[in-house]
Amino acid sequence: MSKKFKIGIDYGGTKIEGILLDQNGKQIERKRYSYERNYNSGIETVKKLVEEFDKLSNQKCTVGIGIPGFSSKETGLITNANSLWLNDKPFEKDLQIALDRKVKLMNDANCFTLSEAVDGAGKDYQSIFGIIIGTGFGGALSYKKEIIEGSNQIAGDWGHQPLPYPTKEEQETMIDCPSMNCGRPLCAEQFMSGIGFKDRFNQKYNTDFSSEEIVQLDFDKDPRANLELSLYEDRMARLMAVMIGIFDPDAIILGGGMSNIDRFYLNIPTLIPKYTFSNKVKTKVLKNIHGDSSGVRGAAWLWDS
Ligand SMILES: [Zn+2]
Repeated sequence: MSKKFKIGIDYGGTKIEGILLDQNGKQIERKRYSYERNYNSGIETVKKLVEEFDKLSNQKCTVGIGIPGFSSKETGLITNANSLWLNDKPFEKDLQIALDRKVKLMNDANCFTLSEAVDGAGKDYQSIFGIIIGTGFGGALSYKKEIIEGSNQIAGDWGHQPLPYPTKEEQETMIDCPSMNCGRPLCAEQFMSGIGFKDRFNQKYNTDFSSEEIVQLDFDKDPRANLELSLYEDRMARLMAVMIGIFDPDAIILGGGMSNIDRFYLNIPTLIPKYTFSNKVKTKVLKNIHGDSSGVRGAAWLWDS
């Protein structure tokens, strides 16, 4: 019986990463290359990774690619990507020509969620809501180890919806989101992404800290850091409660830089019942298991045969 290998690619804003998995999900190789931030350089870099992995495994592997935004089923063009040179390009078609095979493209938050659902923190649960909190803020849904993509291909991606039950302070922040297809005040990403979190802190206290420095301040018992992290936890509980009201997942799994803040896993679950239509909430709030590898692993799992 011949072994089937899978390639997963994570198309980042400055780097493109690839992983080669065997049929059991074991990592055989993982590589990452920088590229020039333009369309053709991105395609050439994906091609280089795939050729190297094909050679290593001595076969033509399946290829799944995690991208910012999504490849529209209607037009075949990329939409909503923050790597702007991808938008409105027939990326899937061009890759299939460059790689001489069919490829599967999926939003990167979906890839993260699939990876954690298949053999990560969510492996023992049926319904998963994955949240990525990095430079951006987004989510994705999985049920029985498959992604629910949705009619508009944005199922679970509620990061640009408004903060629920906004406080007076949040309403007075008056930030209009700069993202394409958003531009609205009270957009959750402006409060919840790593950048949003440190920007709101620095705006309020007239400081210039990174989010990591603010977390360190909290360890050093700085009351401002504790207050802002407490407010952040309450915002997250409100946002999660909305998703529990719609999808009611078994587990919510956090990824991205902000998922490394350990106090979230103690505090957020105690706040969620304040905002749900159920006084008992069984939904688990979990840290990811695969860390930075989840993007590439989930992309590889897009081919499950
Ligand atoms: Zn927004």
